[in-house]
Amino acid sequence: MKLKLKPLVEGGFKRPLLVAGPCSAETEEQLLAAAEGLAPLEIDFFRAGVWKPRTRPGNFEGAGISALPWLRKVKERYGLKIITEVANKEHLFQALKNGVDAVWIGARTTVNPFSVQEIADALQGLDLPVFIKNPINPDLNLWIGAIERIYKAGIRRLAVVHRGYSAHGASKYRNKPLWQMPIELKRRFPDLPILVDNSHICGERSGLLAVAQKAMDLNYDGLMTEVHPDPDRAWSDKAQQISPSSFAELLSALVLRAPSSTDERFQTKLEQLRTEIDEIDEQLLDLLGRRMQVAEQIGRYKKENGIAILQTHRWNIILQKAQQMGLERGLSKEFVEAYLHAIHEESINHQTKVMNP
Ligand code: PEP
Ligand code: MN
Repeated sequence: MKLKLKPLVEGGFKRPLLVAGPCSAETEEQLLAAAEGLAPLEIDFFRAGVWKPRTRPGNFEGAGISALPWLRKVKERYGLKIITEVANKEHLFQALKNGVDAVWIGARTTVNPFSVQEIADALQGLDLPVFIKNPINPDLNLWIGAIERIYKAGIRRLAVVHRGYSAHGASKYRNKPLWQMPIELKRRFPDLPILVDNSHICGERSGLLAVAQKAMDLNYDGLMTEVHPDPDRAWSDKAQQISPSSFAELLSALVLRAPSSTDERFQTKLEQLRTEIDEIDEQLLDLLGRRMQVAEQIGRYKKENGIAILQTHRWNIILQKAQQMGLERGLSKEFVEAYLHAIHEESINHQTKVMNP
């Protein structure tokens, strides 16, 4: 589906587009203090969660409807546009009744086509900016499906928010970014603005700048960051929230790069390097094709001798050797592992085909 979008905000926006504010609306004083700190930074939207989806019960689940007038006060007093999360049509009606300027669909809602469709139906006929977060599981089609449902409801001011993917086990991220997902989404929908939610990707403060910078280097359009007047005392997500002054520091440390250049010397040099990359890619694919032919020979040979495909001992040796060789060539352990698993899987598929024609 090709998207014909309207500018997310009338008259366009300067890059990076900034959505900032606390994880949750806790009290009127807290919201006003956050807005007071953020207003001078010329943010585009002031965010606060009114209904909070918490993974486990017993945590602060948001102040609900009573928080909406506080948000409205932020808008009236500081002239900031306000945005909140909606997970069903009742949330949307309440938000609209209270003058909310835009809404976002959270990661736990994007996973559910019933909920997304309910919100889409309720959005029919409105001209409201809608931000769609990636689903918590790394399923690009689910993200695209949500975009399409909202688009089909007639919403033309659309943006997506990359907030990372939850995974079992320890990681340096709270939600792994899996940058290939948003990159593929950008390839399919080049005109759809994309923001990075560095707060939910990191889960703690120290990584926020690096993740924001990486997103800027990938030509993202903006940031959604959780900013709280007193982060250590936040009622939700306190480890990842930062004060307005830390947010100001983060913004001034960000290096912004132009999406492209028309400079001829730059273009020529870039073309040369890209040609080199294209040639290397072709060589890599040639080699991989040859590798699979050898795998098929092995498959035939194993079949003739009645031997199984998977030889765990041999696979361990390959893994160890390659990790060492990768390290010597400046390749990360994670990359070498992912690369070898992909090759191994393809190799097994080729052998299986030979064994069971
Ligand atoms: C949030 O932005 O506060 C939030 C709940 O985000 P997500 O849906 O990405 O978890
Ligand atoms: Mn949060």
